[in-house]
Amino acid sequence: MKKYSVALAGNPNVGKSTIFNALTGLKQHTGNWTGKTVDCFEGQFEENQAEFFVTDLPGAYSLISYSREEAVTAHCLRKREYDCVILVLDAGALERNLCFALEVLSLNVNAVICLNLTDEAEQKGIIIDDKALSEAFGLPVVRCCAVKKQGIKELKAAVNNACEAPRTARLDFCPDYSDGKKNIEIISKYSRKLCSGCVTVTEGDKIKHDRRLDRMLTSKALGIPVMLLLCGLLFWITVAGANYPSEWLNYLFGAVKNRLDEWSAALSLPPFLSGLLIDGVYSTLTRVIAVMLPPMAIFFPLFSLLEDSGYMPRIAFNLDRIFSRCGAHGKQSLCMMMGIGCNACGVTGCRIIENKKERLIAVITNNFMPCNGRMPILISLLMMCFSGAEFGFSSSFLISFSLVGVIACCVIVTLLVSKLLSALLKSGGESGFVLELPPFRRPQIIKTLARSFWDRTLIVLGRAVVVAAPAGAIIWLCANIYVGDASILKHCTDFLDPFGRFLGLDGVIVMAFILGFPANETVIPIIIMSYSATGALTDFEGYNELFSLLSQNGWTITTVVCMIIMTVMHFPCSTTCLTIKKETGSIKWTLLSMAVPTVCGIALCAVVSHI
Ligand code: GDP
Repeated sequence: MKKYSVALAGNPNVGKSTIFNALTGLKQHTGNWTGKTVDCFEGQFEENQAEFFVTDLPGAYSLISYSREEAVTAHCLRKREYDCVILVLDAGALERNLCFALEVLSLNVNAVICLNLTDEAEQKGIIIDDKALSEAFGLPVVRCCAVKKQGIKELKAAVNNACEAPRTARLDFCPDYSDGKKNIEIISKYSRKLCSGCVTVTEGDKIKHDRRLDRMLTSKALGIPVMLLLCGLLFWITVAGANYPSEWLNYLFGAVKNRLDEWSAALSLPPFLSGLLIDGVYSTLTRVIAVMLPPMAIFFPLFSLLEDSGYMPRIAFNLDRIFSRCGAHGKQSLCMMMGIGCNACGVTGCRIIENKKERLIAVITNNFMPCNGRMPILISLLMMCFSGAEFGFSSSFLISFSLVGVIACCVIVTLLVSKLLSALLKSGGESGFVLELPPFRRPQIIKTLARSFWDRTLIVLGRAVVVAAPAGAIIWLCANIYVGDASILKHCTDFLDPFGRFLGLDGVIVMAFILGFPANETVIPIIIMSYSATGALTDFEGYNELFSLLSQNGWTITTVVCMIIMTVMHFPCSTTCLTIKKETGSIKWTLLSMAVPTVCGIALCAVVSHI
């Protein structure tokens, strides 16, 4: 069987990943915002007894690379290592897309042009004469609507033909460009000229509707209040919805634990072994699942829906002015939102910022956003503040809006630290390009919900579980192995106690944050284990029992406030640290990313506990 290599190239957000998925049957996550495809994805399909190996290149606006993704794409295309390049163009923004296409075609690659997003173009009232476009370039042009899988069959056939009889573009209509003058003005001139020959525009209803919506969502008066309201709503649904399944899971896991205890007694397992396995590993594992799974299963899918609708870049747009005043980029807010899901993802997402200094600031400050491992800690602590009343509508409302308040404080700290870092760090050159606002799109609800559950919820949970099991065993051992008259855990917490008290906390809490380095999800279980004499997790019927255990151990409102501060401001988890090292390629920046939030947290706690 013949084998060909094919690359998908185009501007960001033109549907390359969707086409890649449709061609290869793979399930790369697609999201409606710039710069999502940050790595090259590979897959394959068969057509006409030939095998095609497809690479989805990162989105690029130009081969003159500003960002790392653009550099990767430019490098791959310049090396001309593909038998055919599928140039994916947004039919609704052809002129801008053709600038990139002209650059690629001038490399004399064998190409097929794929006009995607034709449905949106139609709604915008844009009509493209694809035959004229095909004649102008002397290349095949295929119309697609990737989300509906329209045109995919034709695209496969066109790629097959192009591989069998390679053709490069005729660029005789732009002689001075092919002479090698890669000047933006010349490229724009020719893409305008091409468009005037094959595009007709009548302003459609969709474009009017989008403009109206944009005027509202990005207006000075409404932009930020709408954003806060939406975030509040998101958290409220998460908090209110997560409590009940959390309790059911606790109940279920408690019942299974009783069975395990019975079996271990029946099998006469040595108490040390049953304690280690059941009280240590099993209880920590199930607590992490019971606490984390419900909020994540609600938060991530809702977040993905917002992402797919096209709202996220509007947030970046609204915040751009504030961020740029602090020497950062509005796109940092997108990385921060990814950080709310998982800081390691947020740090990787910083690749969408072209300017090196702004990117570094975004990486170092990303940890100020509480990730999903820390969110349950915050929710429990806030619930503690509003405890007394039974968990109901009003308390869930209060908790979710206090959570918005905590996150608003995190944003303020991020801005202040960004400003400080911007003054201290060396300049990283000019920002290469402006933020793109993609059109509003109706999210594919079922697909998005299912995908985000598998792609995000289960992956994050899986990671937490992998860490929680050994952590549970180690903590149980530390709590049950005695040196002198006290356990190892007690020795450590006693040692840390004076420092903890200075911060308005205690030795157990400081120890929990240190032991929580592999995964923040284990912080609360470690605290509970340490307070309960045996180092085993007690079964709580609900949050109220947890609160009474904590107050028995001397927790006051100051402890809760300092714990909230420490939760959002301490070193990132091990996965995030590794990601920072990978992204910055530097131990120095990794250590700084650990030191900055920790120093801020210690300073703030010391101040709060002494007033
Ligand atoms: P990439 O950044 O170029 O890889 O773009 P994606 O494949 O991630 O697509 C960006 C967004 O456009 C996603 O929300 C897709 O569902 C959506 N999308 C992709 N192709 C089409 C299409 O033909 N029509 C419409 N309406 N939306 C599309």
